[in-house]
Amino acid sequence: MANYQRILVAVDFSKEFESVLAKAIEQQQLTGARLLLVHVVEYTGAMYTGEIPLPEDLDLDQRLAKQAEEKLQAMIEQNDLQNAGYQVEIGTPKREIVRVAEEHSADLIIIGSHGRHGLQLLLGSTANGVLHQATCDVLAIRVEGD
Ligand code: AMP
Repeated sequence: MANYQRILVAVDFSKEFESVLAKAIEQQQLTGARLLLVHVVEYTGAMYTGEIPLPEDLDLDQRLAKQAEEKLQAMIEQNDLQNAGYQVEIGTPKREIVRVAEEHSADLIIIGSHGRHGLQLLLGSTANGVLHQATCDVLAIRVEGD
């Protein structure tokens, strides 16, 4: 396996994510790479599927982003990931994950095969989208239920 230097880990805070994080830490220890934990807050406007468009709640998005930052900081502390960074973005997960990977010249993206959106599928929608759009290697970790 290539000697990766910068690994982006796509964090969705689902229960299934624990096994993804464990594999990411394993990779970090094997390669000495720097980990970047990334969470994307999905636009709250996108959660509403009714006929009347809901204006994007920017304030809510900002609050969710702040909470996500705190959770990522706690994840770093609890797992003693001293060399790890974190980043929270607001937008579409697959698009933002690929964009942040390019921004940081990540050479590997680690992602769960599915999280909240894809239990019945081989690959969830985020993993599938990232796999098709990323310009670096992608490691999809099989999570419980596959
Ligand atoms: P899903 O598309 O929900 O089945 O999720 C598959 C994997 O994509 C998860 O295990 C995470 O690694 C990643 N992922 C999903 N949603 C997000 C998100 N909002 N932010 C960061 N990573 C995500």
